[in-house]
Amino acid sequence: MKVLCFGSLNIDYVYSVDHFVAKGETLASTDLQVFIGGKGLNQSIALAKAGAEVCHAGAIGADGKFLLEALNEAHVNTDFVTVLTTERTGNAIIQRDKEGDNCILLYGGTNQMISAEQIDNVIAHFSAGDYLILQNEINNLRYIMEKAHAKGMIIVLNPSPMNEKILELPLEYVNIFILNEVEAGQILNCRNVNHTMLAEKLHEKFPNAAIVLTLGGDGSIYIDRDTRLTQSAFKVKATDTTAAGDTFTGFFIGSLLKGKGKQDAMKYASAAAAIACSRHGAAPSIPTLNEVEDFLIQQV
Ligand code: ADP
Repeated sequence: MKVLCFGSLNIDYVYSVDHFVAKGETLASTDLQVFIGGKGLNQSIALAKAGAEVCHAGAIGADGKFLLEALNEAHVNTDFVTVLTTERTGNAIIQRDKEGDNCILLYGGTNQMISAEQIDNVIAHFSAGDYLILQNEINNLRYIMEKAHAKGMIIVLNPSPMNEKILELPLEYVNIFILNEVEAGQILNCRNVNHTMLAEKLHEKFPNAAIVLTLGGDGSIYIDRDTRLTQSAFKVKATDTTAAGDTFTGFFIGSLLKGKGKQDAMKYASAAAAIACSRHGAAPSIPTLNEVEDFLIQQV
């Protein structure tokens, strides 16, 4: 069984500023830091750290080669990443002010240039029962889902960041949804529903899919046809919750692939996400499987 993460690869440019630049203003920044990013990249790294053999598919420009190095270093296979030499990699211009608040400008770049030809080539290498992990930061998701469904792949959708494009996808092809409360509420078009009801309603709408609802510091819920599970969040001093959901997704699926049961997969995902919350940054905050196991031993 193989796992393919078809998703975004991003360069995050973080500029330190005294205040956010205003209309018509030219402002000198005091520092620039460059980070690897993208939900697809984060989830591939989390899957690999959980012990899965993962292939990443996506696209970068000539400026994004260091993203491939980071993925390879984490033992993610990058054979299916296309390099579009005349284009720019997807990027985010992030202003960070003295209070630590952000404002973010996104450019989709090569993340929005996934071609049908690339999708055909990539999916041809996978078979029935292989996992496909998707988020909402690349184009052509419908076509990827159609091809993967026709192949009999197990489709995992993390509908993040949520927008109306998600509602236009063939969501009935999804085998596992991994999503937070806001995303679930938007798919169901309902608000102020309690956690369990939200998961149940989603399961009613997609009876063939498993639902994994993440609830931040309140833990997570798993529902499928025959199982109802809950997992509380582990107590940590949360300093930066960036990539909590990506870490959870990678460790949940990675753990299933390593043969763990659903409850154990929830526990490992929750522990890995808690550790990520206790560290700064996105991809660098994702723990290794050993770190997760040591953390779990300390909890008993
Ligand atoms: P997202 O980052 O996609 O919004 P959540 O905020 O629901 O997702 O977080 C995903 C998972 O990360 C949660 O189910 C939980 O296991 C873990 N998590 C999130 N916030 C915390 C926290 N403050 N303390 C411990 N674990 C957390």
